[in-house]
Amino acid sequence: MKTTGQLFILSAPSGAGKTTILKKVMQKIVKLEFSVSHTTREPRKGEKNGVDYHFVPVEEFKGMIDEGLFLEWAEVHGNFYGTSRPAVLEQLKKGIDIILDIDVQGAAIITEDASLDSVSIFVAPPSLAELERRLRGRGTDSEETIRIRLGNAGKEMAAAEKYDYLVINDELDEAAETLRAVLIAERSRSHRLPSGEAIDLEVGR
Ligand code: ADP
Ligand code: 5GP
Repeated sequence: MKTTGQLFILSAPSGAGKTTILKKVMQKIVKLEFSVSHTTREPRKGEKNGVDYHFVPVEEFKGMIDEGLFLEWAEVHGNFYGTSRPAVLEQLKKGIDIILDIDVQGAAIITEDASLDSVSIFVAPPSLAELERRLRGRGTDSEETIRIRLGNAGKEMAAAEKYDYLVINDELDEAAETLRAVLIAERSRSHRLPSGEAIDLEVGR
């Protein structure tokens, strides 16, 4: 029987729609919290410090690495990103499920740690051409940033088969519903539910 919250990992190539899907699903699922990462990248228009990310200078980020404050961290598309160890472990201990929006390198680190018992989900675009359309259509990134992100997409897609689940984000509502179904199904796995002792096996005899 599991006594702590469940850790979920969500990864995708940049522009696949992971943030959009997650926002939809988070509105519909209770007792699930999003882990706000630290990053050294500049905030996009509309992003809020402490909500989308904790935006920190490179020196501060490096200091946090030295202090062991990250459960995992990685350099992604030229910036640093990391998951707060104390924040995540504290919430899990309270029995709250946590979802990490992290890249394939960070996902490999979390998955390797068997004690975390994480469940991983990869969100893929229907095609690379559509991925490019979405990255450009988002209108938040410079041409150079778009090129770097598209350049990394192939390598990221190759990691998809290592994940427990694959969600293709073609039609948005359908993809969000699939992700929601995965989260609910995983929560219902018998080893994550309260002990079977509560079930009266004599009923019906
Ligand atoms: P990510 O978080 O994976 O980098 P976003 O959630 O920011 O991606 O989505 C990238 C762009 O694609 C956004 O402009 C978003 O509105 C759009 N988008 C997301 N899902 C779909 C979809 N299923 N169909 C069309 N556009 C989508
Ligand atoms: P973006 O700059 O588009 O918000 O994110 C770029 C990439 O960094 C995405 O793949 C996202 O999942 C990843 N990312 C965000 N936070 C973290 C984190 O804490 N750790 C790791 N390893 N990757 C992260």
